Amino acid sequence: MKITKYSLFAFGAMTILASAARAQQPAKARNLVVFLMDGYRWRELFEGADSSILFDKKYNKIDSAWTVAKYWDSDIHIRRRKLMPFVWETMAAKGQLLGNRNYGNFVNVENKYWFSYPGRSEAFTGYYDSAVNSNEYPDNPNINVLEFIDQQPGYHGKVVSFASWDAVARILNRTRNHMLVNIPGEDLPGESLSPQEKDANTWQHTLPEIFGKGERLDATTYALAKSYLMASHPRVLYIDLGDNDDFAHQGDYDDYLDAGHYADAMFKDIWNTLQQDPFYKDQTDLLVFPDHGRGTGSGWTSHGARVAHSDETYLLAMGPGIAPRGEVKSAGQLYQAQYAQTMAALLGFHFATAHPVADAAGVVAK
Ligand SMILES: [Zn+2]
Repeated sequence: MKITKYSLFAFGAMTILASAARAQQPAKARNLVVFLMDGYRWRELFEGADSSILFDKKYNKIDSAWTVAKYWDSDIHIRRRKLMPFVWETMAAKGQLLGNRNYGNFVNVENKYWFSYPGRSEAFTGYYDSAVNSNEYPDNPNINVLEFIDQQPGYHGKVVSFASWDAVARILNRTRNHMLVNIPGEDLPGESLSPQEKDANTWQHTLPEIFGKGERLDATTYALAKSYLMASHPRVLYIDLGDNDDFAHQGDYDDYLDAGHYADAMFKDIWNTLQQDPFYKDQTDLLVFPDHGRGTGSGWTSHGARVAHSDETYLLAMGPGIAPRGEVKSAGQLYQAQYAQTMAALLGFHFATAHPVADAAGVVAK
């Protein structure tokens, strides 16, 4: 199944061989930072603000002229850089951007549900399990690559996650693996927290819970994650962002664009922080991907199996273990199930468990 499904595509075949060969050699990166952007579309990433939504006043409640001034330009290259400057000025130059469908470079979820729990489960277990079919699904029975890495020498207790959505605790099954998976409402534990960690703990209880129970704003999640990174030096840090999906479901395109723009600022801030710290500098890879896409036109607010195009995603990667191919403009097909083995391969491991695991993506440097 894996051979026919994952290996027979143009850009993947050669590079997968490169990664397989490299698995025998020391990994170029010792550490990994992963961002997930819940339901952020490939369209805004690769094309910038979407005029069909941006100029519709119904989707821009605050000040549409201000939103247009911030994010619009008739030139697609200027427009996308206005929205995500770090992606287009730094990641496009030093890393690899997969999923611009205008070039026939396709990234899709393999699962048939096109929503959040199944999307994350596929990405982190490397496996589409059709039984995982609900956001209310209990603890994930499938083993994920984060807990696999946590069991490798030098990584135990050094693989941590911070999420804006409480379901991530079930998706990663922290009940089983006892990893730190920080979710809304939970403070960083410990007697000797840094000043930044104490502040982050405080801030999460002083912001409005505008998305309801079980969720918090991404700035809160990021503050907790960054303060923990600086104080405790985890080897693998997973930051799960949720603002984009929530604002999109509310039909607030201005806030949705802001959320994408601020996520880009978080990528920049974490990257610069990593490069100023000898523990991370030049030995840490960065990955960014969503859990699913969303629809087009008036369907942009939604996603799921009945909403066309919400299986369309992307993968952004940068770091010493990533081949610097920039925006990939050749035809290809990548699936979300390939991310788990990609994460393992970047650290020099091969993820094998009771269920099948899809091959690594072809982003790994030779
Ligand atoms: Zn989602």
